[in-house]
Amino acid sequence: MMKKFVVIGHPINHSKSPQIHQAFAKQAGISLSYERLLAPIAHFSAVAKDFFAHGGSGANVTVPFKGEALNFADQLSADAKIAGAVNTLWVNDGKIIGDNTDGIGLVTDIRENHQRGLGHQKVLIIGAGGAARGVILPIAREHPYGITISNRTPSKAQTMVDTFSPIVDKTTLLNALPLDELAQPYDVVINATSTSLTGQALPLNPQVFNQQTLAYDMMYSDQPTAFMQLAMAQGATAVDGLGMLVEQAAASFAIWHGIKPQTIPVIAKLRQSTNG
Ligand code: NAP
Repeated sequence: MMKKFVVIGHPINHSKSPQIHQAFAKQAGISLSYERLLAPIAHFSAVAKDFFAHGGSGANVTVPFKGEALNFADQLSADAKIAGAVNTLWVNDGKIIGDNTDGIGLVTDIRENHQRGLGHQKVLIIGAGGAARGVILPIAREHPYGITISNRTPSKAQTMVDTFSPIVDKTTLLNALPLDELAQPYDVVINATSTSLTGQALPLNPQVFNQQTLAYDMMYSDQPTAFMQLAMAQGATAVDGLGMLVEQAAASFAIWHGIKPQTIPVIAKLRQSTNG
């Protein structure tokens, strides 16, 4: 019987995950079903439970349910636990296991697809929500020089530093800075706020960028986001999060099927379709 997979979210219409997973499945010569599943806001658990009770093999989880998926899982990976969020669920020995592949997706995209090692780099992460929390450990594992976290609500950035400091390698400096105190250039600047999604302005000193900077917006869009435009005006290289989306899907696919798919052709195909 064909294995069943879904991506659960609210809204879910625009999710590219079915397209991505079917492209990977074709590469691997696997036949599977992968559907979008809309869960009512208050009913993630009921919907997920029903899916697995009816033979579902695995689920991706997206906005706004990644926190609820954490509670839903019977067992969690270390990354999911520390991120406080789950984007990948599957069944093992009758138990639901939860993992978070967003961080590894970002790091793989930066390192492999954009050819930027993070070792010894000064990294700035803007934002302290679920997406930022999920990427700290995978970035720290690359041994950057330091990770600075900056957020509109500064206390949340400080809480993240307090949480992660005991866990990350002592050679990586971890600190929090208020947005209005950012004044130095960084090698890599990651926009993990939801401002590109909502179209709100992100008050950011352009001096965080210089010509060597890789500016990474976790959002993806057919046009450069305001964050990317600000970075490019300083001569920085600016990229969006389409590669992260495909790489987190590839990591989920590898968990579910034991096969690491090729991502570059899938990113290229999606880029063509987002550009109309
Ligand atoms: P979240 O938990 O809601 O966090 C939102 C963050 O944005 C918070 O740090 C918030 O600051 C900040 N923010 C919101 N409005 C702002 C404003 N006007 N000015 C400055 N900061 C503002 O969201 P999330 O789940 O972390 O997601 C963040 C982004 O990552 C989304 O765009 C999402 O689509 C993207 N993402 C992409 C991928 C991918 O595969 N490419 C994967 C995961 C997430 P406060 O703490 O002050 O509220």
